Amino acid sequence: MNIIEFVEVGRIPSDLFRRLADATAQIVGAHYMIREQPLDPFFALLENRGQFNSTDIVTRLRDLKSSNSMRIVGITDVDICIPILTFVFGEAQLGCCAAVVSLHRLHQDFYGLPPDPDLLFRRAVQETLHELGHTFGLHHCPDYACVMHSSTTVDDIDLKGDDYCVSCRATVEKCKDRAQQAASS
Ligand SMILES: [Zn+2]
Ligand SMILES: [Zn+2]
Repeated sequence: MNIIEFVEVGRIPSDLFRRLADATAQIVGAHYMIREQPLDPFFALLENRGQFNSTDIVTRLRDLKSSNSMRIVGITDVDICIPILTFVFGEAQLGCCAAVVSLHRLHQDFYGLPPDPDLLFRRAVQETLHELGHTFGLHHCPDYACVMHSSTTVDDIDLKGDDYCVSCRATVEKCKDRAQQAASS
């Protein structure tokens, strides 16, 4: 069965976390499970930057993945980065099973604007689909409306649509079929 495993990395408001898992899995066309035990991101803290190393988190998630899920996605509210970049919205291992998404810079309040829970949720879904897309082997997509289009700012995210384009969707489906076959053989 195609199951995406969701893990809280640090603390996320529980209804947001569950809604995000539910909405994302539905768009991918997969089942989901929620890992009971959140992952404390402290091991990935870069003390000199006050940020957390996303590559270390992804590696840890990969080790945590349960054998009956096809992908594992960590959702965090802490600020994450890879050491050569100021920050990242998320990171995934291309064609591998693990990804992490940070809500930190998806909040309107991060930019000194009034909180907007609906907008936060939309961005969180888009970014989770994006990172999952990388785990399905997708690169960045030239289609501006596709969730796989690359974004460096939240404005870029807001210009995208809420789903994969036809071509990216075909790759996701192929990948799910392969995961299904691997599980049943
Ligand atoms: Zn990307
Ligand atoms: Zn696309």
